[in-house]
Amino acid sequence: MDKQGTTDFGYQQVKREEKARKVAEVFHSVADRYDVMNDLMSFGVHRLWKRYAIELAGIRKGQRVLDLAGGTGDLAGRFARMVGPEGEVVLADINASMLRRGRERMLNEGLAGNLRFAQVNAEHLPFPDNHFDLITIAFGLRNVTDKDAALRSMYRVLKPGGRLLVLEFSKPVLPGLKPVYDLYSFSALPLMGKLVTGDADSYRYLAESIRMHPDQPTLKAMMETAGFERVEYYNLSGGIVAVHRGYKF
Ligand code: SAM
Repeated sequence: MDKQGTTDFGYQQVKREEKARKVAEVFHSVADRYDVMNDLMSFGVHRLWKRYAIELAGIRKGQRVLDLAGGTGDLAGRFARMVGPEGEVVLADINASMLRRGRERMLNEGLAGNLRFAQVNAEHLPFPDNHFDLITIAFGLRNVTDKDAALRSMYRVLKPGGRLLVLEFSKPVLPGLKPVYDLYSFSALPLMGKLVTGDADSYRYLAESIRMHPDQPTLKAMMETAGFERVEYYNLSGGIVAVHRGYKF
């Protein structure tokens, strides 16, 4: 975000207050086809990225988890099984359409007892201080207007000893990967989006927003500024995606 109150929406500069509305349009538009598009676009590899993040979470029975920007519940569903009936998982998202899909899916999978659903903005989390053992935000932070405010809010609601995992697209570090990845992102993704959801623009936004997102060291520094300690990151698929983990002590 710059000093004049504009921010990026993909490659466009828009007024700060406009970004949330435009992001909302994207996710209202893609919600019904979100899961199938994830499998198609990543050739199913998003499941491995998420599995890796879940391994790093080190979750135990009875713990309290916030899956922020949780969408259709890929992570929340796994956590609900892992924390058991004494634990609690909150699937939270700003977007009513994504949350509706998430809720339907979790109920269809027989997961409801220890799951709660909350429509929230990551920038102003409506939870008590020191509340969660684990917070995850998967492919969500990129879409948030004020990422620093969101990280501070996550820090506040995390318990001392708790950890935050940010799973997000990042900067490819493997030599030779970038040109192929760029070609795929800017040609194939919007075309797939158009064929499957009738909406090429949302998938163009996806490709552009990935390029505008802070790279690995920048996000690490942002997490440290928000208060997180022992922040480390792990590159996946040559840095196409990275998982950042930080602790509150
Ligand atoms: N975490 C899920 C996954 O990995 O499949 C969904 C990721 S989806 C790409 C991004 C999600 O971020 C959308 O559901 C969107 O509504 C949500 N989101 C965007 N801005 C947000 C905000 N400010 N606060 C909370 N959620 C937000």
